[in-house]
Amino acid sequence: MQKSSSPIRVPNYTLFTPGPVQIPSEVLKEISEPMIHHRTKEFEAIFRETIDDLKQIFETEQRVFIQTATGSGAMESAIVNTLSPGEKVICINTGKFGERWVKMAKTFGLQVIELRVPWGHAVNSNDVDSALRLHPDARALFCQACETSTGVLNPIREIAQIKKSYPDLLLIVDAITALGVIQLPMDAWGIDVMVAASQKALMLPTGLGILAFSKKAWQACLDAKGPRFYWDLRNEDNANTKDQTMFSSSVALIRGLRIVLKRLLKMGLLELQSKTLEHSEETRNVLSKMGFTPFSYAPSPSISAFTPPPGIDGEALQTRLQEEFFICVAGGQDDFKGKILRIGHMGALTKEDYQRLFLALFQILKGNPANKLMNQRELQQLVNWDVFR
Ligand SMILES: *Cc1c(COP(=O)(O)O)cnc(C)c1O
Repeated sequence: MQKSSSPIRVPNYTLFTPGPVQIPSEVLKEISEPMIHHRTKEFEAIFRETIDDLKQIFETEQRVFIQTATGSGAMESAIVNTLSPGEKVICINTGKFGERWVKMAKTFGLQVIELRVPWGHAVNSNDVDSALRLHPDARALFCQACETSTGVLNPIREIAQIKKSYPDLLLIVDAITALGVIQLPMDAWGIDVMVAASQKALMLPTGLGILAFSKKAWQACLDAKGPRFYWDLRNEDNANTKDQTMFSSSVALIRGLRIVLKRLLKMGLLELQSKTLEHSEETRNVLSKMGFTPFSYAPSPSISAFTPPPGIDGEALQTRLQEEFFICVAGGQDDFKGKILRIGHMGALTKEDYQRLFLALFQILKGNPANKLMNQRELQQLVNWDVFR
């Protein structure tokens, strides 16, 4: 029987979600260009330039790889390309994505020591120090720079400093909601593997996983004994020397990535980082006045998490923002479903976008006892609009 099909209408949503994010218009244009084949000299030139620019964003002179995958694929690639079954690793678990390191590491037969931290808190570097003293035989230490599920920023610089006393230890950092928007100079701090993905701070559609390897991590890649095929970076490295990828390249996304990187480098990493920080601080300032409580004890500039005012269900709030105002934010995960709201500060968000978000929240919370703002004029006067550049 034939089903009647009505056209699917997609509103023009504004994404304050911590991935995917608003994509800059010049990037949208680039990724919709006519397709070119990946084994052409034009694509090879694009690929070479993209890898070179990525090194500047990772602040590394080491190897950087682009694989066609989501962020989790790049996390898996980091594991299978550095470690062998049976080896001991320490996973810092500050939330949903820390838990993912734990689950993945176990899946690949690693002996996992879990350093579990309550949601909303960053790991304490003293606890990392103690864990390493207890397990000096650990081969790798896994962490998130920003734990997206809670909006927490972990002290990667301090952890990297502690790691220096363990010359055989690899520090593997998930920087998926951090690279670019938070200071994380890979070589200067001594990070061994850093993982990124296209749809978060890199302002692209989902589909690219990006990894950088230090010299030590690369040696570990050559020595690792576990099976790997699609993820095998040894073959990828070979292909990269000819400015090609091992399998079919994700041509449109890599072309888009090239444009994003030019944009970031033109703006300057420091400017992007201070802008992101200011946006998050101002958002916390404004939402606090409306009765929201910041959820994270160590807030990340890339994403803000809030507990809604008493009596307000986070999920219902999220739905109203989406259906009445066409604004997408994220809710809580697992135990925090309906209990927290997460607002991302990555992507091409404009001052007008923030204006619409704040006004929408004000409309929804008008008359709520926790909301200290009497009217829209008060809101307008409260916000330091200059920071939303
Ligand atoms: C989004 C995200 C991932 C990966 O998610 P995918 O859906 O596989 O792209 C991993 N870690 C963090 C911190 C993230 O924010």
